[in-house]
Amino acid sequence: MKIAVVEDEKKLATTLKEGLEGEGYTVDVFYDGKSAEEAISQNPTSYSVVILDLMLPQKDGFEVCESLRAQHVSVPIIVLTARDTLEDKIRVLDSGADDFLTKPFEFQELTARIRAVVRRTQNESAKATMSLGSLSLNLRTQEASRNGTVLALTPTEFSLLVLLVEHADRPVTRDEISMHLWGTEDSALSNIVDVHISNLRKKISDDHAGKSIQTIRGLGYRIEE
Ligand code: CA
Repeated sequence: MKIAVVEDEKKLATTLKEGLEGEGYTVDVFYDGKSAEEAISQNPTSYSVVILDLMLPQKDGFEVCESLRAQHVSVPIIVLTARDTLEDKIRVLDSGADDFLTKPFEFQELTARIRAVVRRTQNESAKATMSLGSLSLNLRTQEASRNGTVLALTPTEFSLLVLLVEHADRPVTRDEISMHLWGTEDSALSNIVDVHISNLRKKISDDHAGKSIQTIRGLGYRIEE
């Protein structure tokens, strides 16, 4: 399994490369955003995961992420960030990243996050399509549509929708959502879960049906058709 590490701090890049190689991964290191974006977009299936620093020369991590997603490159992206405000975390996830780690971090936590995003990607691509009422989800192309109209969802919103549709028969808790999206139950993430739910709700609700994701007080969220 091949991982792209995009990190301009040479020492950290080398530590990550050696550590990940020790875990059995093959690692390519890029020291700026532009060369990483070019290499990844030219061969989008060659990497299983991208570890992406935010502050990078030439093109920053936000731009790399947005640009890859705009080109429909669906490789899982874990962002490394020294910033830890809620706004920054939301901006990271909204740019199309799957997960983030705040520097400094433990190497074991990074490898756990890598395993979580890989597992999630594999689970999702193993199944082809899902549907609920007028909603239809294509798990190969990561595309959701409602009554045949494609919905403009971010990869995180798509993954969240998959979870809700899978468990349409019961409320899904915030912890379950955090675990599904980021492989962890950190309570600090529950605000971010709420933001993603709110964005997703706006995108999938049609004008007549009213609320399609219900908030179940004290329990979590449930999708309705
Ligand atoms: Ca940096």
